[in-house]
Amino acid sequence: MSERPTTLLHVASEMTPLAKAGGLGDVIGALAAEQARRGHRVTVALPAYRSLAVPEGWTRHPHPGCDVPWGLGVEPAGFEILRPPARPGGREGGDGGAGASGGSLEVLLVEHRGARRFFDREGIYDDPARGQSYPDGAERFMFFARAALQALARRGEPIDILHAHDHQAGWVPCFARTHLAAEPAFAGVATVFTIHNLGYQGIHDPWVLGLAGFGRELFYPAGPFEFFGRVNDMKVGLLFADLLSTVSPRYAREIQSGGEFGFGLEGVLQHRSADLRGILNGIDDETWDPARDRFLPHPYDRAHPEGKLKVRAALREECGFPASPDWPLVGTVTRLVEQKGLDLIEQAEADLLRLDARFIILGAGQPRFQELLTRLMIRHPQRFYYRAGFDERFAHLIEGGCDLFLMPSRYEPCGLNQMYSLRYGTLPVVRATGGLADTVSDFDLEARTGTGFVFQRYEAAEMVAALRRGLTAWRQPAVRAGLMERGMSLDFSWRASADGYDRLYADALARVRAGAAPTLDSVRAAM
Ligand code: ADP
Repeated sequence: MSERPTTLLHVASEMTPLAKAGGLGDVIGALAAEQARRGHRVTVALPAYRSLAVPEGWTRHPHPGCDVPWGLGVEPAGFEILRPPARPGGREGGDGGAGASGGSLEVLLVEHRGARRFFDREGIYDDPARGQSYPDGAERFMFFARAALQALARRGEPIDILHAHDHQAGWVPCFARTHLAAEPAFAGVATVFTIHNLGYQGIHDPWVLGLAGFGRELFYPAGPFEFFGRVNDMKVGLLFADLLSTVSPRYAREIQSGGEFGFGLEGVLQHRSADLRGILNGIDDETWDPARDRFLPHPYDRAHPEGKLKVRAALREECGFPASPDWPLVGTVTRLVEQKGLDLIEQAEADLLRLDARFIILGAGQPRFQELLTRLMIRHPQRFYYRAGFDERFAHLIEGGCDLFLMPSRYEPCGLNQMYSLRYGTLPVVRATGGLADTVSDFDLEARTGTGFVFQRYEAAEMVAALRRGLTAWRQPAVRAGLMERGMSLDFSWRASADGYDRLYADALARVRAGAAPTLDSVRAAM
């Protein structure tokens, strides 16, 4: 990469520790921190949600607001800069958490000051009062994308990389190559778009194209702004970015194959196949470390796994399960959505009860799955424990205290919990899809290899069979110790992922320097 530090802007709708609804938040928080550590100058643009959790030690700095072009008019935006505290060994006076590398990290909060206050609301995506997403989602995140770029353009400092994440930031590459292309800040910029979950695309009625500043003449079948008669934010991102990535190598292949994985965008992805890479997510190995996890009643690690037994006892007690018989605990922490395989649990109810195991599930999401899990707990209080809602502490306790961890996903772009489980010596039972297949290897009794239990087809019987194998292995102390040891010694830190992104950025910049950056005309012509 270049001699001077790379200046990069992530545009994302979540970032830990400030705002998190799922894995995206973890990924942005950890990736940005790792990039700052390795010397990049990193800004993360994030909506100024009402629920933002700004930890102690972070500093807040005012930043001038501006009007954001919006259809035929403008909408007012306010901004604020947040900086994390200096890390031990970092420069005096706050270095944005980057340490001594010369890099820095800051967050650009984007506030909507128009009458409808896009972000000053109770939920991030969903209106808790109605249990569904806010009806003006198209406007909320298009405004966010445009306003973030507008702030950077006004600041005027050259940006090397614009890294847009998921459909909420889908318009970022397009705006940078069209309305804002003449801005000095973006003169040499390369754009990268990362798919964290193709199942959510941001699909809207065509009138939103006017808000984006494009005329109706650009809305025609199979054009860049059209998707089955509607506008698709994800598709716009996929077409205008210099390079694309997704969060595991296997998912990169799956989403091009169509079927259940492509969600109608497989054609676009095949069209850009040569520009799409799979870069496996890492995990935040400071927050998710059983040796220093502040949520665990007892620390433990690979050399002293016996501490896990105390965490396990605390978890069992919290769930109200008896100490005798001391059956294995199987955990799940998940958003309650179709993707996560909860219908397999529903179908397998009778078989699960035959397993001599207890199930602990933490999750928030669709009412039908909440009802299912509540019903299981009421019917079988000694076998199922369900906690509704989002509970960071309990998520850590489940990872630390359970014996097995179940992830029967229909599809899984990367998945984080199986990696947390491996690190916590909790044996993962997963379906062979996406990042689950890339991170968990199936146990082989003969060879004594493998880190978990993997099943292939999306079928309840296969899931139960994998669970049964997992429980049998767990009941044999030597086998269990081997599985735990192999899992706990894997390295899922962000270093390898950040290397992958550095290569992606370097290649994207090389393309731009070679004059190959997309324009509105080139994108239209290529379709
Ligand atoms: P996804 O991004 O599809 O939700 P991931 O496995 O990539 O799935 O990441 C999910 C993240 O969100 C994990 O860190 C998990 O612990 C966390 N999480 C999900 N649901 C809850 C919940 N109800 N309470 C606490 N943490 C949760």
